[in-house]
Amino acid sequence: SYILAVETSCDETSVSVIKNGREVLVNLIASQIETHKAFGGVVPEVASRKHVEVITLIMEQAIEASGIQPKNLSAIAVTQGPGLVGALLVGIVAAKTLAMALDKPLIGTHHIAGHIYANRLVEEIEYPAMALVVSGGHTELTHIPSEGKFEVIGRTRDDAVGEAYDKVARALGCPYPGGPHVDRMAHEAKTVTPLPRVWLEPDSYDFSFSGLKSAVLNIVNQASMKGETLDRSSVARGFQESVVEVLVEKAVRAVRAYGSKQLLLSGGVAANKGLRKALEERCAKENIKLLIPPMEYCTDNAAMIGAAAYLKWERGMFSDLKMQAEPGLSLENWSVE
Ligand code: ATP
Ligand code: MG
Ligand code: FE
Repeated sequence: SYILAVETSCDETSVSVIKNGREVLVNLIASQIETHKAFGGVVPEVASRKHVEVITLIMEQAIEASGIQPKNLSAIAVTQGPGLVGALLVGIVAAKTLAMALDKPLIGTHHIAGHIYANRLVEEIEYPAMALVVSGGHTELTHIPSEGKFEVIGRTRDDAVGEAYDKVARALGCPYPGGPHVDRMAHEAKTVTPLPRVWLEPDSYDFSFSGLKSAVLNIVNQASMKGETLDRSSVARGFQESVVEVLVEKAVRAVRAYGSKQLLLSGGVAANKGLRKALEERCAKENIKLLIPPMEYCTDNAAMIGAAAYLKWERGMFSDLKMQAEPGLSLENWSVE
């Protein structure tokens, strides 16, 4: 099968064509980062307008580059949610129009299922699997008992990891998106500012990062009030070590408790070098099979949406052309039957 997939949930406009749910023929990504930098974050109205400006062209370019005749496409997949409603809408309208014009089935796809199934673009997944989803809007541990079935066993009670990274980065004077800058600074640090770890209840798989974020903001404010120069790298390192330690510990505990055959790292923060390294080391020591998508499939892209949509394609689970954007779409409800 050849699935054309569209992703516009936030600030990347992306179109991909993937073969048999695994082989990426093309994955074009137009990032709006430069546009949003001036505002220090994503401005929803601006994001929608930018998607509108480029979506048609990117769709045409992706089809062209895939070498697949439009009439030979099997289905059109598109991110239905979660995400910014106006941004999602642009991709959905474009996907519906193409599906209608070519008379192909439409597959509304869950963005986080996409982040998780980005791992299948690299290697087959063995079940039961455990996904550690760390992105701009989500921090979750998800048990996957069998293909395409999702059970969220832990989630953040306040900030998502990526969100905490972006806020800390902003306080440390880095441009948006700050995650990669904090990652780099942490790597360069010569000392480590001690910061708290938040574990919550002993048996909980939930997370909390707002306290840690506030602790960082306090240190930054204190230093500026006293007129002291702050060792920004040291703070970045302390923050990153705290985040990584909690993520790794809870993920490993979940893998043990659920007898998972693999741990799947997913979402934009999976690009974090400190997290990748710590997970790799810990999983090697504990004999846990770890999958991490290549960098280009960690942050938002349409190839991952095609990989998740394939689960529904195989089962003939298609969406109605009246499908709406669902900014709060639940992952568990999106599971296959
Ligand atoms: P969601 O997937 O939850 O809807 P999103 O799509 O906005 O959110 P992603 O594109 O998955 O988020 O990830 C973007 C986030 O990843 C940003 O918060 C960014 O700062 C963070 N990020 C990217 N690279 C790194 C890195 N190297 N270290 C830490 N964070 C990073
Ligand atoms: Mg983005
Ligand atoms: Fe995302």
